[in-house]
Amino acid sequence: AAGSVTYAATKVYYNRHPMVQSPPDPSKKTLLILGTGWGAASILKGIDTSLYNVVVVSPRNYFLFTPLLPSCTVGTIEHRSIMEPIRYITRHKQCAVKFHEANCTDIDPVNKTVTVEDQSEIKGKVNKSTLKYDYLVVAVGAENNTFGIKGVTEHACFLKEIWDARKIRTRLMDCIESAAFPGQPEEEVKRLLHMVVVGGGPTGVEYAGELHDFLVEDLVDWYPDLADKVQLSLVEGQSSVLPMFSRKLIDYTESTFKSNQINILTGSAVKEVHEKHIVIETSDKQRKEIPFGLLVWATGNTQRSVVRDLMGKLPEAQTSRRGLLVDDHLRVQGTNGMWALGDATFTKYAPLAQVASQQGTYLAKLLNRLGKLEDTTTTAATTTPDELIEKLRPFRYSYQGSLAYIGADRAIADIPIFGQTVASSGVATYLFWKSAYVNLLFNTRNQSMVTTDWVKKTLFGRDISR
Ligand code: NAD
Repeated sequence: AAGSVTYAATKVYYNRHPMVQSPPDPSKKTLLILGTGWGAASILKGIDTSLYNVVVVSPRNYFLFTPLLPSCTVGTIEHRSIMEPIRYITRHKQCAVKFHEANCTDIDPVNKTVTVEDQSEIKGKVNKSTLKYDYLVVAVGAENNTFGIKGVTEHACFLKEIWDARKIRTRLMDCIESAAFPGQPEEEVKRLLHMVVVGGGPTGVEYAGELHDFLVEDLVDWYPDLADKVQLSLVEGQSSVLPMFSRKLIDYTESTFKSNQINILTGSAVKEVHEKHIVIETSDKQRKEIPFGLLVWATGNTQRSVVRDLMGKLPEAQTSRRGLLVDDHLRVQGTNGMWALGDATFTKYAPLAQVASQQGTYLAKLLNRLGKLEDTTTTAATTTPDELIEKLRPFRYSYQGSLAYIGADRAIADIPIFGQTVASSGVATYLFWKSAYVNLLFNTRNQSMVTTDWVKKTLFGRDISR
């Protein structure tokens, strides 16, 4: 026990007071990493910074633990608990890593440069700069897909970034307070209290589950006159929700939602989005208007413009419109010295955090190996980097299972055990979901913050301020 306490205390002390780092070495090859999501953060954890001059560019100066983002929309977990400043990771590397908070707007694969823009609201102007690289890792993720439907960006809330979760929380409380305002017509109260989620993938389902918990655990106490007027609907274009889960878990989710009075409108594609209503088209081609107070849009992802532009520059090698094509070593096809991973790519795996994370861990090892081989002058003199990479192990994805929270202290899980996928659901799965996510959180600081939030919610309820 004394050993564990000393170990924990040393770890905390070390995290607060990292060792002095050696400065970046510009004589080394520049490894430029775009992004601070799952893929980029995993590379940063594993990369040996003494081998490269490492530079990171991302519009977000933190890593976001996205699986718990739906919990932030209703205050089950506070935003900061799932954010980890990227410098907390880079500060512990042997050699210093440069971080630029900026958006990469263009990649030039021929001259090996990227254009970056700092769009700081405080500074008020856009600063542009060009950075050179020897090796580039494109880990920029993807953006929300609106399918070109007008009005989505203006009237709906997405659920991808921390500011999306803040916007949802503000808008949700705004709807409730407006509905509580004296003299509101009955029809308007009904509209304001209709919360609509579009997209029956894991994001939409988890959000609907969290919102349900907020309604029954908190709003019933604080807004007793309104609580029974709140309605929650999940709209899905396909014939069922969660197509990536096994049939048993889909049925379990649908019956749990039914008993939680969440309306599931399957076979209903949203065609139009207006300020106060959406228009859906059912499978029998009937059109119907649905008024809403809050609209959450969770219909999946599409490529960012920087990735689309890059694909456009490599028409012969990049033939898929769904993302960058990479080879078995994650090298971007048709380029030299460029890798890509996660949601920016199109591979046979689903766009999951665990895929990007495993790819990041793999790529860090590959780059470390490559850096060491290139350091050995005899090898480097006779062999090109690509020839060295060919000799290294290709990436292999290991499926770790799928988990989703569905509300009312229930979760579903497809877990691979001895080559078989086992479906599990219910309260025990929820406890497993909780412990799995706490374990997955990158550090002790975030683990303790999330655990404290759960205890706080149980003892005091969720914060209902805007
Ligand atoms: P998704 O692509 O999984 O689901 C989007 C859903 O929206 C689809 O079922 C689609 O049919 C529906 N849709 C699209 N357009 C529509 C329209 N106009 N009207 C009605 N419905 C429409 O999206 P997601 O849930 O954001 O997930 C994105 C990726 O991230 C997926 O690969 C998912 O597996 C993964 N993810 C996993 C978890 C988890 O495992 N817990 C959590 C979140 C996301």
